[in-house]
Amino acid sequence: KLQFDSKSINEGFSRVAVCAFVASLDPNIEELTDIKTAVSEAVTNAIVHGYREKEGKIYITVSIFENNIIRIKIRDKGVGIPDIEKAMEPLFTTSDDERAGLGFAVMESFMDKLKVSSKVGFGTTVTMEKKIRGKKL
Ligand code: ATP
Ligand code: MG
Repeated sequence: KLQFDSKSINEGFSRVAVCAFVASLDPNIEELTDIKTAVSEAVTNAIVHGYREKEGKIYITVSIFENNIIRIKIRDKGVGIPDIEKAMEPLFTTSDDERAGLGFAVMESFMDKLKVSSKVGFGTTVTMEKKIRGKKL
Protein backbone atom coordinates (compact mmCIF):
# COMPACT_ATOMS: atom_id res chain seq x y z
CA LYS A 1 0.00 0.00 0.00
CA LEU A 2 1.13 3.49 -0.83
CA GLN A 3 -0.21 6.85 0.22
CA PHE A 4 1.09 10.16 -1.10
CA ASP A 5 0.13 13.78 -1.78
CA SER A 6 -1.46 14.65 -5.12
CA LYS A 7 1.53 16.66 -6.33
CA SER A 8 2.60 16.04 -9.92
CA ILE A 9 6.16 15.42 -8.74
CA ASN A 10 4.88 12.27 -6.98
CA GLU A 11 3.58 10.70 -10.19
CA GLY A 12 7.05 9.40 -11.10
CA PHE A 13 7.57 7.99 -7.62
CA SER A 14 4.25 6.15 -7.72
CA ARG A 15 4.85 4.34 -10.99
CA VAL A 16 8.41 3.36 -10.07
CA ALA A 17 7.19 2.06 -6.69
CA VAL A 18 4.48 -0.07 -8.33
CA CYS A 19 6.96 -1.45 -10.85
CA ALA A 20 9.50 -2.24 -8.13
CA PHE A 21 6.88 -4.28 -6.28
CA VAL A 22 5.77 -6.10 -9.43
CA ALA A 23 9.40 -6.86 -10.34
CA SER A 24 9.32 -9.91 -8.07
CA LEU A 25 7.23 -11.61 -10.81
CA ASP A 26 10.03 -11.06 -13.33
CA PRO A 27 7.94 -9.19 -15.93
CA ASN A 28 9.34 -8.47 -19.38
CA ILE A 29 10.11 -4.91 -20.48
CA GLU A 30 6.86 -4.54 -22.41
CA GLU A 31 4.76 -5.57 -19.43
CA LEU A 32 6.63 -3.16 -17.18
CA THR A 33 6.15 -0.33 -19.66
CA ASP A 34 2.43 -1.11 -19.93
CA ILE A 35 2.00 -1.05 -16.15
CA LYS A 36 4.05 2.11 -15.78
CA THR A 37 1.97 3.89 -18.40
CA ALA A 38 -1.37 2.76 -16.96
CA VAL A 39 -0.41 3.80 -13.41
CA SER A 40 0.86 7.10 -14.71
CA GLU A 41 -2.47 7.83 -16.47
CA ALA A 42 -4.57 6.93 -13.43
CA VAL A 43 -2.43 8.93 -10.99
CA THR A 44 -2.36 11.93 -13.33
CA ASN A 45 -6.16 11.77 -13.51
CA ALA A 46 -6.40 11.76 -9.72
CA ILE A 47 -4.10 14.79 -9.53
CA VAL A 48 -5.52 16.93 -12.34
CA HIS A 49 -9.21 15.93 -12.36
CA GLY A 50 -9.86 14.40 -8.94
CA TYR A 51 -8.26 17.12 -6.86
CA ARG A 52 -8.08 19.88 -9.51
CA GLU A 53 -6.51 22.97 -7.92
CA LYS A 54 -6.85 21.49 -4.43
CA GLU A 55 -4.50 18.92 -2.98
CA GLY A 56 -5.34 15.60 -1.35
CA LYS A 57 -4.12 12.08 -0.79
CA ILE A 58 -3.81 9.34 -3.39
CA TYR A 59 -3.94 5.72 -2.26
CA ILE A 60 -2.51 2.81 -4.23
CA THR A 61 -2.86 -0.85 -3.37
CA VAL A 62 -1.03 -3.47 -5.40
CA SER A 63 -1.80 -7.16 -4.91
CA ILE A 64 -0.22 -10.23 -6.42
CA PHE A 65 -2.48 -13.24 -6.91
CA GLU A 66 -1.96 -16.81 -8.00
CA ASN A 67 -1.25 -17.33 -11.70
CA ASN A 68 0.88 -14.15 -11.67
CA ILE A 69 -2.08 -11.80 -11.83
CA ILE A 70 -1.52 -8.35 -10.38
CA ARG A 71 -4.25 -5.98 -9.27
CA ILE A 72 -3.60 -2.27 -8.90
CA LYS A 73 -6.13 0.00 -7.16
CA ILE A 74 -5.69 3.74 -7.40
CA ARG A 75 -8.05 5.81 -5.27
CA ASP A 76 -8.64 9.51 -4.70
CA LYS A 77 -11.09 11.37 -2.49
CA GLY A 78 -11.63 14.10 -5.06
CA VAL A 79 -14.63 15.42 -6.96
CA GLY A 80 -15.73 12.09 -8.48
CA ILE A 81 -17.08 11.34 -11.96
CA PRO A 82 -20.76 12.05 -12.72
CA ASP A 83 -21.00 9.77 -15.79
CA ILE A 84 -18.37 7.01 -15.79
CA GLU A 85 -19.43 5.46 -19.09
CA LYS A 86 -19.07 8.78 -20.88
CA ALA A 87 -15.78 9.59 -19.13
CA MET A 88 -14.33 6.30 -20.36
CA GLU A 89 -15.15 6.98 -24.01
CA PRO A 90 -12.02 7.63 -26.06
CA LEU A 91 -11.50 11.37 -26.75
CA PHE A 92 -13.90 12.45 -24.01
CA THR A 93 -12.36 15.07 -21.77
CA THR A 94 -13.67 17.75 -19.43
CA SER A 95 -10.39 19.58 -19.78
CA ASP A 96 -10.31 22.72 -21.91
CA ASP A 97 -6.54 22.68 -22.41
CA GLU A 98 -4.60 20.26 -24.61
CA ARG A 99 -5.70 16.96 -22.99
CA ALA A 100 -6.54 14.21 -25.46
CA GLY A 101 -9.16 12.32 -23.47
CA LEU A 102 -7.27 9.08 -23.99
CA GLY A 103 -6.18 8.16 -20.46
CA PHE A 104 -8.85 5.50 -19.85
CA ALA A 105 -8.39 4.12 -23.38
CA VAL A 106 -4.68 3.71 -22.68
CA MET A 107 -5.34 1.96 -19.34
CA GLU A 108 -7.85 -0.32 -21.03
CA SER A 109 -5.53 -1.33 -23.85
CA PHE A 110 -2.40 -1.83 -21.73
CA MET A 111 -4.06 -3.81 -18.93
CA ASP A 112 -6.26 -6.93 -19.09
CA LYS A 113 -9.06 -5.47 -16.97
CA LEU A 114 -10.15 -1.97 -16.01
CA LYS A 115 -12.93 -1.03 -13.62
CA VAL A 116 -13.83 2.49 -12.56
CA SER A 117 -16.07 3.27 -9.64
CA SER A 118 -16.84 6.76 -8.48
CA LYS A 119 -19.19 8.86 -6.41
CA VAL A 120 -19.58 12.58 -7.01
CA GLY A 121 -18.18 14.47 -4.04
CA PHE A 122 -16.49 11.39 -2.59
CA GLY A 123 -13.88 10.29 -5.11
CA THR A 124 -12.84 7.73 -7.66
CA THR A 125 -11.28 4.27 -7.62
CA VAL A 126 -9.61 2.75 -10.67
CA THR A 127 -8.93 -0.99 -10.49
CA MET A 128 -6.73 -2.64 -13.09
CA GLU A 129 -5.54 -6.20 -13.52
CA LYS A 130 -2.85 -7.76 -15.63
CA LYS A 131 -1.41 -11.23 -15.96
CA ILE A 132 2.36 -11.20 -15.92
CA ARG A 133 3.76 -13.74 -18.38
CA GLY A 134 7.34 -12.62 -17.96
CA LYS A 135 10.24 -13.54 -20.20
CA LYS A 136 8.60 -16.79 -21.31
CA LEU A 137 6.64 -14.89 -23.99
P1 ATP B 1 -5.65 12.60 -21.15
O1 ATP B 1 -5.65 11.48 -20.13
O2 ATP B 1 -5.56 12.09 -22.54
O3 ATP B 1 -4.63 13.65 -20.82
P2 ATP B 1 -8.18 13.14 -19.92
O4 ATP B 1 -7.50 12.99 -18.60
O5 ATP B 1 -9.21 14.21 -20.04
O6 ATP B 1 -7.07 13.35 -21.07
P3 ATP B 1 -9.10 10.45 -19.50
O7 ATP B 1 -7.91 10.14 -18.66
O8 ATP B 1 -9.59 9.38 -20.42
O9 ATP B 1 -8.85 11.76 -20.38
O10 ATP B 1 -10.30 10.87 -18.52
C1 ATP B 1 -11.54 11.28 -19.11
C2 ATP B 1 -12.30 12.22 -18.19
O11 ATP B 1 -12.71 11.50 -17.02
C3 ATP B 1 -11.49 13.39 -17.65
O12 ATP B 1 -11.47 14.48 -18.56
C4 ATP B 1 -12.25 13.72 -16.37
O13 ATP B 1 -13.41 14.47 -16.64
C5 ATP B 1 -12.71 12.36 -15.89
N1 ATP B 1 -11.84 11.77 -14.84
C6 ATP B 1 -10.89 10.82 -15.03
N2 ATP B 1 -10.30 10.48 -13.88
C7 ATP B 1 -10.90 11.22 -12.92
C8 ATP B 1 -10.74 11.31 -11.48
N3 ATP B 1 -9.85 10.58 -10.82
N4 ATP B 1 -11.55 12.18 -10.81
C9 ATP B 1 -12.46 12.94 -11.49
N5 ATP B 1 -12.65 12.89 -12.81
C10 ATP B 1 -11.88 12.05 -13.53
MG1 MG C 1 -6.22 11.41 -18.18
